[in-house]
Amino acid sequence: MNYDILINKEHRLESDFVPSDLVITDNNENNFHNYKDPSLKPMITQTVLSFFQLLQQAGLKEGYHIIIDSGYRSYEYQQVIWDKNVAENGLEHTLKYIMAPGASEHQSGLAIDIAYIRNGVYTDDVTEDDPEYAWLINNAHLYGFILRYPKDKQEITGINFEPWHYRFVGQELARYLHDNNLTLEEYYILKNDVKNSRQ
Ligand SMILES: [Zn+2]
Repeated sequence: MNYDILINKEHRLESDFVPSDLVITDNNENNFHNYKDPSLKPMITQTVLSFFQLLQQAGLKEGYHIIIDSGYRSYEYQQVIWDKNVAENGLEHTLKYIMAPGASEHQSGLAIDIAYIRNGVYTDDVTEDDPEYAWLINNAHLYGFILRYPKDKQEITGINFEPWHYRFVGQELARYLHDNNLTLEEYYILKNDVKNSRQ
């Protein structure tokens, strides 16, 4: 799988796409919610887990304990979330806040929603005012991760600001996007412009 893959409403994954190297994370919500079902542990690809662990260790040195709260989600699971939201809140609301099946980066195994442990207590109340957020904004790219849906890019991504959602794109691209303040969508627009100008 290419780590720079663009997944959004216009670029969807096939319904039968499942990443080949999914692993169960060690730092998982089971530990904090006392779930008994091992299938509830977040899963991500092995590569993403390896890089996340490096990011996590760097954060811990600064006193920030960042964990993976949610990782891989299957097409079927996204369909369940979608259907439930449509039933409860209507289609208009759902279109605004929930990714349609196939359009969620979580199906790729390359996206994570983060949470924190503070003084031994789990919290998924992730905001832009968090010291952890400030640290991640300046450091996540060093480990190949980007904040996928920034606040000032909502028009471009089509997604509301999500301070908890990070996407692994590899270190080189993450550094490029960070240094040039670009989203993945903008990166692909630029790439196509270059391609077209050469033709
Ligand atoms: Zn997410």
